[in-house]
Amino acid sequence: KSGFVAIIGRPNVGKSTLLNRIVGEKIAIMSDKAQTTRNKIQGIYTTDEAQVVFIDTPGVHKPQNSLGDFMVKSAFSALHEADAIWFVVDASMERGRGDDFIIERLKEVKNTPIYLLVNKVDLLAPNDLLSVIASYQENAPEWSEVFPISATEGDNVSELLENVVSHL
Ligand code: GDP
Ligand code: MG
Repeated sequence: KSGFVAIIGRPNVGKSTLLNRIVGEKIAIMSDKAQTTRNKIQGIYTTDEAQVVFIDTPGVHKPQNSLGDFMVKSAFSALHEADAIWFVVDASMERGRGDDFIIERLKEVKNTPIYLLVNKVDLLAPNDLLSVIASYQENAPEWSEVFPISATEGDNVSELLENVVSHL
């Protein structure tokens, strides 16, 4: 089994931390060398059963000019080539315009499972999790999977990996 997973999310939600936890120091090796025109391979997770290639989607923010616009379009085109998309949000902050901008574009993606990863749950009171998740279900695509995770603590990350591998 093998496939591509595109990771998307506004800055500081924990995308790099999550990738580091999954692929460790391989990120540093890969990020300098493996580069295609559009997608930067951030790391490869390999088991006996599967190989998962993670790509980042740089420059995903509200464009300020035509170059920015071009970069955003390139970033989003990567989404259409992925086998699965992980949309990472920060559980410790309210849904904001940066999240909304990405969500609008995710609505255009068809036939690719989109995961909502609610990261930093270690900063959250357990009772608050459901309302955080609910805030990302309004005015959004139907998420294929919802995973509360903590990239720093490692909570639920192995379950997430197992799940994505089972979909490849
Ligand atoms: P990126 O911009 O999305 O790649 O975000 P980073 O991975 O650089 O993380 C931004 C900040 O959030 C860093 O200070 C991380 O240590 C912190 N962070 C990431 N994941 C978690 C988490 O699960 N819990 C907590 N408490 N902090 C986190
Ligand atoms: Mg990062």
